[in-house]
Amino acid sequence: MTIIVKGLNDQRYERTLQLIANLFYEDTKLTISDEVEEDALVVSIKTDIEGNKITAYAELEDPVLTAKRSAQYIEKETEKESFKQNKNAVSHVFLSILQEYTGITQKWGVLTGIRPTKLMHKQKMLGTSVIDTRTHLKQQYLITDEKIDLMEQIVGRQLKMIPDLYELQDEVSIYIGIPFCPTKCAYCTFPAFAIQGKLGKVSAFLAGLHYEIQETGRWLKERGVKITTIYFGGGTPTAITAEEMDALYDEMYRSFPDVKTVREVTVEAGRPDTISPDKLDVLNKWEIDRISINPQSYTDETLKAIGRHHTVQETIDKFHLSREHGMNNINMDLIIGLPNEGVSELQHSLNETEKLMPESVTVHTLSFKRASEMTLNRDKYKVADRNEVEKMMNLAQEWTNDQGYVPYYLYRQKNILGNLENVGYAMPGEESLYNIIIMEEVQTIVGLGCGAASKFIDHATGKITHFSNPKDPKSYNDGFMDYTKKKIDYLEALFPKKAQKS
Ligand code: SF4
Repeated sequence: MTIIVKGLNDQRYERTLQLIANLFYEDTKLTISDEVEEDALVVSIKTDIEGNKITAYAELEDPVLTAKRSAQYIEKETEKESFKQNKNAVSHVFLSILQEYTGITQKWGVLTGIRPTKLMHKQKMLGTSVIDTRTHLKQQYLITDEKIDLMEQIVGRQLKMIPDLYELQDEVSIYIGIPFCPTKCAYCTFPAFAIQGKLGKVSAFLAGLHYEIQETGRWLKERGVKITTIYFGGGTPTAITAEEMDALYDEMYRSFPDVKTVREVTVEAGRPDTISPDKLDVLNKWEIDRISINPQSYTDETLKAIGRHHTVQETIDKFHLSREHGMNNINMDLIIGLPNEGVSELQHSLNETEKLMPESVTVHTLSFKRASEMTLNRDKYKVADRNEVEKMMNLAQEWTNDQGYVPYYLYRQKNILGNLENVGYAMPGEESLYNIIIMEEVQTIVGLGCGAASKFIDHATGKITHFSNPKDPKSYNDGFMDYTKKKIDYLEALFPKKAQKS
């Protein structure tokens, strides 16, 4: 689909409008131009500012459709700040026109960001009432009541689990990335390298990771900064041997400050084919609170098609084995929209999940991320259409509700099928604290290991600085000392030494 937006003469609109167009069409090419191309959908937009009022008008010629939006206009300190109001008004009319033209209602309105619940937290921090927050979200972003209800439910659960969510800035959380998996799944864009034949690389990588843990731990201890949560992800952190896991957790306890008081330590054991009794013993020995065993689907053909190389039965067996070894907080991920899957396959997956009743279930919607094998070979994979995906989402929502799970975090992705969201559900009281903290961006996260993304949050200015370790073990091994130093420099700036008492 080619869309031309006439009348704006300012390229700063292009990205915002492109993101909105992507909500309606796959592979959209949007241009801000007064030159019309044949077969393009042409939308004319203009804005008027009069006193303290801004009005945007949009018009489609064939069929004739119009939209108008008026809002208060406040002159801000910078032109850039003021321009945001133009962008919002233009987004409103552009969305309205496309909704009418396609007959599709966007339940998240003009919102294209990843973390909608952050907007609600922001209003809470400002002390805005519930009613005024609802009105603001509806008027400013055109979010529907259904989605605002969901946001309220999630924000409520998050504050129940972490009552001091807005006061965590003096602590940090830690993410540790282990970049190995038994094989690479077809939809994967994570740093994940098939482990077979890479044993030399694994030990070199782990040596670097131990160093990062030691140095970061030393700095945190010296500066008196506590850790709120620790999360081992990847890859699959249980892809390494039981001895390597044991040495890693030993390092964690020795190097990090006061691991006994850390509120939650999670280890993703995503691939069932990596779980064994000796590894479960190690997880138990170090009192790991929460693990993830991810079925993704309970249909063997699907697992084969996406390159998981494990069977449904293996997921079920490893779940029971983990329970026998005392794991009492298990998360299971399901993916909606996997190749050749529709409502009936999802229903089957939910029926099977019901027999296990893990403490939490995360429902992802498959997104065609750019680098994955599935995107490169899109023709090979038949996936459900927008309507079917929406039905599947609703089914998952009803099922979780019937089983007593509550939604506790959500995030949206670009290129997600049907413009829906990923939702984490949990039994009340079993929600992952790390997931809440990372999703709401309330605290600095220090990423250690391959592909680990750090987020340094300056609470005085709200500025978030991102820093990522390299995704491949070779580059990581070449530069881990340098990356550790850079992160400690960021931390130094954010957590200055407290003045000595005289
Ligand atoms: S198990 Fe997860 S990290 Fe590993 S290849 Fe599959 S999707 Fe990627």
